[in-house]
Amino acid sequence: MLNEILYIFFPKSCGSCNIPLHTFEEGICTSCRHSLPEISFVSSVENQMHDIFKEYKISLATALFNFEKHTEVQELIHNLKYRNQKKIGKVIGHWHGAKLALDTNFCHVDVVLPVPIHKKKLKQRGYNQVSSYGTILAKKLNADFNESILKKVIHTKTQAKQTRQERFENMFNSMELADATSLKNKHILLVDDVITTGATMKACIECLKEIEGIKISVAAIAVTLLEDA
Ligand SMILES: [Zn+2]
Repeated sequence: MLNEILYIFFPKSCGSCNIPLHTFEEGICTSCRHSLPEISFVSSVENQMHDIFKEYKISLATALFNFEKHTEVQELIHNLKYRNQKKIGKVIGHWHGAKLALDTNFCHVDVVLPVPIHKKKLKQRGYNQVSSYGTILAKKLNADFNESILKKVIHTKTQAKQTRQERFENMFNSMELADATSLKNKHILLVDDVITTGATMKACIECLKEIEGIKISVAAIAVTLLEDA
């Protein structure tokens, strides 16, 4: 009842298409839940996402949606990242996490690490946009969540102003690990919002790959794939 009253005064809108939500809908409307371009593979030992990381030995790779510009997936990410709609991360975490929890490969993940953002950006935005998504994934997989172990140390300038090469070089030296020992022999799941070139993830992998016995997997809300998955 209280929810119904609150809803009249503060109607919530869909994180993807922005139309007002019904009271029974959480974050994303029913229509979008059916029409968003979900990727058919969940993990599988080799998939198109592995191709992005072919220079590394990563274990599992998964994303919930196919990313394309000017689509509702972009709108969803934009709302999560720039319009203070942290809740979208939770909703997507539940959605993706429910799928991953059914996959025996993902049940062996020990720690979920969100790709970090620089503290200056954290201050501006007020939150790391992948934290809520990562927290829920960790919960669903019975894994730990740690957002302080991996740090972004260089504040790269607006990426749009850089060439792809500059972007890669800056990015590669931009991550620092606070404590390697605690990750020994662990299966890590790195999570990010969108994977396109994979540069940010690769910078994190560079930081982690020498740790003894480590296994690295990656998950994202959306990925840009060359062909349909
Ligand atoms: Zn919608």
